[in-house]
Amino acid sequence: MDKQELYILCDRVAGLILLAKKVVVFTGAGVSTESGIPDFRGPGGIWEKFDPDDFTYHKFLRDADVRKKHWRLLRSLTPAAEPNPAHHAIVELNRLGKLDCVITQNVDNLHQRAGLAAEKVLELHGNMQSAVCLDCGRRYPFAQIKVRLDEGEEAPDCEACRGLLKPAVILFGEPLPDEVLREAALRSTEADLFIVIGSTLTVYPAAYMPAYAADAGARLVIINLSATPLDGQAEIIIRAKAGEAMPRIVRRLKEKQGI
Ligand code: ZN
Repeated sequence: MDKQELYILCDRVAGLILLAKKVVVFTGAGVSTESGIPDFRGPGGIWEKFDPDDFTYHKFLRDADVRKKHWRLLRSLTPAAEPNPAHHAIVELNRLGKLDCVITQNVDNLHQRAGLAAEKVLELHGNMQSAVCLDCGRRYPFAQIKVRLDEGEEAPDCEACRGLLKPAVILFGEPLPDEVLREAALRSTEADLFIVIGSTLTVYPAAYMPAYAADAGARLVIINLSATPLDGQAEIIIRAKAGEAMPRIVRRLKEKQGI
């Protein structure tokens, strides 16, 4: 996609945002790759270094070695990732009064780090910045757990009850949190503009959200480098990086608003 084409499409998206009453933004790994967080599935992705078969809920509960691998993976992911221009543009959209909520598949906490209030972010797959005790439900900030990992503990347990600690992310085979899922589905059906950023829309039930929105009559915009199963229903498709498209869209929106 050349600059001219990108400019025209971003301008059209800005026009849709200007008219919309309820804008829902849906984000996947592609919004965070420019922050240095590797895509799980792509080349050079996390699943080339770790075996995804180990990352099931079932194995986590059953196998102490698998639990150690989980903590090793988390420890390797967390340092130094900062929000990128796409995250900041979404925060700006919110400041302009044009964001109902973000529904995200990401667990990296970068939307909140960029400045969105926690209640604006519906995390379908949890958040790696905390850990939860499966026995007593106590939550711990990951920073606190990381100190213990750095000191050589391989699979930290709950300090209160010695129960099993699990990263507060949804593992394969683990049900998504009901409340978040229901809220995300509701917001999706109520949206009149639904913007997908950096997701291939292949992981369910997350990928149902844009389908709910489109079926309920929302306009659908997809910003993703590769094709998605919902491209046929999208009004505008932008094949660009999130960090290239989103700041342009927000800049055009501000011009249209006269800011
Ligand atoms: Zn506990």
